[in-house]
Amino acid sequence: MAETPPLRAHTVAVHAGRPPHDIDQPLNVPITMASTYVAGGAKEYGRYANDSWTAFEETLGALEGGRALAFASGMAAIVAVLDLVSDSTVIAARHSYQGTVGMLGDLEARGRLRARLVDISDTAAVTAAIDDETALVWIESPTNPAMEVADIAAIAEAAHAAGVRVVVDNTFATPILQRPLELGADIVVHSATKYLAGHSDLLMGAVVVADPELYDVLKGRRDLTGAVPGAFEAWLALRGLRTLPLRVERASANAAELARRLSDHPALTEVRYPGLGAMVAIVVAGGADPADLVVRSTEVWTHATSLGGVESTFERRRRWRTEATTIPEGLIRLSVGIEDVEDLWRDLAGALDRIAG
Ligand code: PLP
Repeated sequence: MAETPPLRAHTVAVHAGRPPHDIDQPLNVPITMASTYVAGGAKEYGRYANDSWTAFEETLGALEGGRALAFASGMAAIVAVLDLVSDSTVIAARHSYQGTVGMLGDLEARGRLRARLVDISDTAAVTAAIDDETALVWIESPTNPAMEVADIAAIAEAAHAAGVRVVVDNTFATPILQRPLELGADIVVHSATKYLAGHSDLLMGAVVVADPELYDVLKGRRDLTGAVPGAFEAWLALRGLRTLPLRVERASANAAELARRLSDHPALTEVRYPGLGAMVAIVVAGGADPADLVVRSTEVWTHATSLGGVESTFERRRRWRTEATTIPEGLIRLSVGIEDVEDLWRDLAGALDRIAG
């Protein structure tokens, strides 16, 4: 008999993490508001288990091709993974999310690890940096907000040959566009706050791994640290995850069209769009002041940090003191939403025309 083909992402996103198809079962896992459970079972306490986390984890795990663990935020997930390292070197993308770079710096200052920042799009430089002291290669692809893209498969092959683990922050691409575990990565991390949840209404993170032993170690760390999400956040994040493929497709199509139209705008010196996803970086000629004027001059686009919501937001990244100084002062990061692309274009082009004219 022919084997049943595996379900595809649109179907997995909708169907995974649901109760069985039995009479009177609800279609959605109900929210369990409980800090503890009657003793003697598998759950025991609210820091160890919650059915809404499990439903979210089953769905994300199925999309990424591994086993997921939900965390209180993306940073909580990142810290749980960095906690695997002690007294060795982490090679990381120089333009990783500023919180990741900040955490690496903090751990280095306290003598917990050594951080070596590299251009993650330069595979030869990344692999050349791996030595006997390296424990982890930290990839972000595309990077936030430089939009560099890494060759995950090539880096993973070189890292594994040296016995080094590879982590990919898959927040920008999502499992709809990039499945790092299939490309050879050992660990995927997410700020689920962004595309996975998708509605700018909660903070959550996730770690996904294929290796059961690594899963147990990370689950053990989460049990101890208590960096767990609330049940309602997990329920909302799963509700968002149901439409992830649709949102990513629509937002990516909008982003590709905007990047194309922006490419010859006279107010810009650069448009960075790696050809996937819904994040675009534009560099405004003249630096911080004209860029600040642009982000104050729109009606549809909202000036706000964070990204990955249904609504389009943008931000001049160097307004943060902690952003890498290699990011241009005039760089505005666009998180393109699912609105009508003509409305997005008219609003953004109007703001850019103001400073170009
Ligand atoms: N990773 C990336 C790529 C991010 O953009 C962010 C937040 O902006 C994080 C991790 C941290 O996630 P959170 O804000 O959910 O802690």
